[in-house]
Amino acid sequence: MERAAALVLMTLLVAPAPARAQSPAVSLRPVLVQGAMPSETELLAGRLDGASVDRIGGWMFWRGTIDGYPVIVSKTLKGMSNAAAVTALAVQRYNPIAIINQGTAGGHTPTLRVYDIVLGTSAVSLGAFKSPRRDVGAGSNTLDWTPLDLTASEGSASSDPNARRVARFQGDRALLAAALGVKTAYARGQVVEGVIGSSDVWNDELDRIARFHSQFGTAVEDMETASAAQVASLFNIPFLGIRVLSNNATNGGAHDPKTGEACQDFVHRVIKAYVATLVRKAA
Ligand code: SAH
Repeated sequence: MERAAALVLMTLLVAPAPARAQSPAVSLRPVLVQGAMPSETELLAGRLDGASVDRIGGWMFWRGTIDGYPVIVSKTLKGMSNAAAVTALAVQRYNPIAIINQGTAGGHTPTLRVYDIVLGTSAVSLGAFKSPRRDVGAGSNTLDWTPLDLTASEGSASSDPNARRVARFQGDRALLAAALGVKTAYARGQVVEGVIGSSDVWNDELDRIARFHSQFGTAVEDMETASAAQVASLFNIPFLGIRVLSNNATNGGAHDPKTGEACQDFVHRVIKAYVATLVRKAA
């Protein structure tokens, strides 16, 4: 038993350090671009020059360059917990200069069509609420619930009046400017600014969607952006959510998974525009 433990220890001690890119770009802080699913990451990963793959836990990262600047594509997997955990992990491991979370989303704005893209001026959490008290047998109505900002204070969120609001995370202005600068290059639909709402719930109740839209201004909903944005804000890292409508329950927009590729193609342009500003700043 002791021998086995010693062997494990020795293996750990002599194991090579994690591989680092050998390019001169290694000293630059990378741009991190996140997507939840293969259909939301593979096109971008394929557009990296000199890519290598890191696996950490259940997560995959592709490290390479775009226009000579280091970019990391991260497959976050779906949902709020995955998005938060992998963002914290990526910040510690790769020290990104900026984070873009992108992928598909469901429309809350009836005038937005499948293939339209929303640039997240802010992201809100649609997962934290306090219900009013109801007695046994009185049922449940989410429209009665009050939003809770779990980041508002260190005290009890339910008794702090400052916490009775939605948690909101602002999109970064420089990233937003880069995205707005290339919006006319997107031919599949319109590119608009708007609020992205996130939770682990897929909402298909039109009254609930309408409430989110009117109360918090949500243009779309997804399951990752606000979570990644929250972690990025704690590390003070510029962040932007970019979401393509893959469906829109408010106007009968049927789900189209190919939208994930269109979004990545647009985000590729955004990254090029953004890294050009970084390179100009450094010059
Ligand atoms: N419809 C897909 C499954 C997507 S599951 C399929 O059948 O393969 C939800 C994922 O898509 C999440 O990563 C989320 O960010 C995104 N998404 C797209 N539309 C959504 C919606 N209407 N509500 C919530 N998440 C949505």
